[in-house]
Amino acid sequence: MEYVSCNLCGSTHTRLVFPNTIPDRKQPQGMEAFRCTSSGYGRHHAIVKCSECGLVYSNPRWDDSELMDSYETVQDPLYLQEREGRVLTFEQHLRPLEAITGPANGRRLLDVGCYIGVFLEIAAKHGWDAWGIEPSQWAAEQARQFGLNVIGGTLEEANLPDESFDVVTLWDVIEHVADPIGEIRRIHRILKPGGLIVIHTMDIDSLFARVMGPRWPWLMEMHIYYFSQRTMAAMLEKAGFTVTRSGPQGRYQTLGYLGTRFTALFGRLGRPVEWALNATRLRQTTVPINLGDLFTVYARKA
Ligand SMILES: [Zn+2]
Repeated sequence: MEYVSCNLCGSTHTRLVFPNTIPDRKQPQGMEAFRCTSSGYGRHHAIVKCSECGLVYSNPRWDDSELMDSYETVQDPLYLQEREGRVLTFEQHLRPLEAITGPANGRRLLDVGCYIGVFLEIAAKHGWDAWGIEPSQWAAEQARQFGLNVIGGTLEEANLPDESFDVVTLWDVIEHVADPIGEIRRIHRILKPGGLIVIHTMDIDSLFARVMGPRWPWLMEMHIYYFSQRTMAAMLEKAGFTVTRSGPQGRYQTLGYLGTRFTALFGRLGRPVEWALNATRLRQTTVPINLGDLFTVYARKA
């Protein structure tokens, strides 16, 4: 475990927001906690808020190498099952993006943490020259089997050339990154002048998060940063970007998948719901979910 200073302003003055809920142990709990579909709800290290700038983050936390080892070896068959919901979500994500960029016309897009490549596949269909970066070897291999361009490892390791991309996207990724401002600066370097960064993450200041308090389902061990639209905008501006748009954006999920989440959240109480969904055709039905606690921010390289 390591203590870190604020990634946005460098301060070490913090206030405890949610105390640690994980019993004492020496190592991360193996790959389980780091799957996209991990059910580790309610299990997290101490979550603090910076007294200077208001950034919320996990502290202390596993050190960088422990986190990276966990992501490199992660495998997640449940995510493959949930593919249909992700396709609809990413089609919905691409629409407002293209409202800002205009049609792709073969311009180059990079998806950081592309996982099994669902967004890459949709972006490529829309005419983008789509590339992905993914630390999980299993997920990168799944994406390559669909014929997608995926670089293994991290953005830092890839050391891509300056000013080589028109758009860089991070869907539900920035909250897992050990040094988000460092990652955003690396993205600034590889974007062309006027290029667009698009980040989707949870909003700790949203009404739903405030109402749920310690029961907000995104408080999880694998999430180490909890941005608000305000702290995210401040970080982007510090890294040389100008925010052009920021607002809530939901997602699509199958009822079958929501049933498994329900059980994860409520234990045995959720089982009849999961059973009923599995016994009927409703399992594969996709529904839009927008509780206002996820947002997308678009910002331009000056
Ligand atoms: Zn701070």
